[in-house]
Amino acid sequence: MKETPALALQRLSHVYVNDKGASLAVEGIDLSVAQGEFVSLVGPSGCGKTTLLSLLAGLFPPTMGNVWLGGERVSGPSPKVGYMLQQDFLFPWRSIRDNAAIGLEINGTKNRTTMAAVDGWLAELGLDDAGHRYPHELSGGMRQRVALARTLVTEPEVLLLDEPFSALDLHIKLQLEDLVVQTLRKLGKTAVLVTHDLAEAAAMSDRVIVLGRNPGHIRKEITVPAEIRDADPMTARKLPGFQPLFEELWAELDAVEPGGDSHE
Ligand code: ADP
Ligand code: MG
Repeated sequence: MKETPALALQRLSHVYVNDKGASLAVEGIDLSVAQGEFVSLVGPSGCGKTTLLSLLAGLFPPTMGNVWLGGERVSGPSPKVGYMLQQDFLFPWRSIRDNAAIGLEINGTKNRTTMAAVDGWLAELGLDDAGHRYPHELSGGMRQRVALARTLVTEPEVLLLDEPFSALDLHIKLQLEDLVVQTLRKLGKTAVLVTHDLAEAAAMSDRVIVLGRNPGHIRKEITVPAEIRDADPMTARKLPGFQPLFEELWAELDAVEPGGDSHE
């Protein structure tokens, strides 16, 4: 018997309606993500990546089709889903420890045990000494690690990552890619990453979904070769198969957006 996918999108279409009229953002999306799988969504700006993550997070219902989380149909936000964004949204007036505990407060599960888990995650992510400091005292990379700790302490089954590294310096970004992949792998978590960085998608993922636009649809699914998939992102980038994979993704996106130099 086939294992129930961690996530599934079924004949999914979404229309945004506002005072300017209606626009079809994504159409006919079928996608399923296995337990523990790391999938990236790449595609030009406006192809519906954020819309798909929002639908996965249950932030609003799809116009047509269904979203499944494990065996259950998504009908609203769930503590089983954690969201990490480009902006860390740390509250400046709260200490790092209290910022990392916000998800617990929202879920009503803040107690001595879960606060010990907050401290555990801060230590695990190299923030041992940062708990009593404030966001303005931290670098961008440290702040994103706090955001990751905040997401992980609520023990979500699925992590949705919307360009979480795009505002960071290159070497910090590469270190965080490794940290995130190693951490999620250790925990066996399922993840969906949106990124405009094709090398990042190739280095971190088990599978890369290339989207086209007008309206957003799946153009191609590329399974990352095993040797690249099994390596940490930093090592993966140096493997002989990496450049051909990158070029395959590039060619696919170039077909959507010929000559475009900003693959978002
Ligand atoms: P991406 O994240 O890939 O850049 P989005 O999911 O943000 O794409 O947007 C997909 C399409 O839906 C775009 O055409 C965008 O203009 C439109 N769209 C996104 N959000 C809204 C909204 N709240 N109201 C109306 N249209 C929207
Ligand atoms: Mg977006």
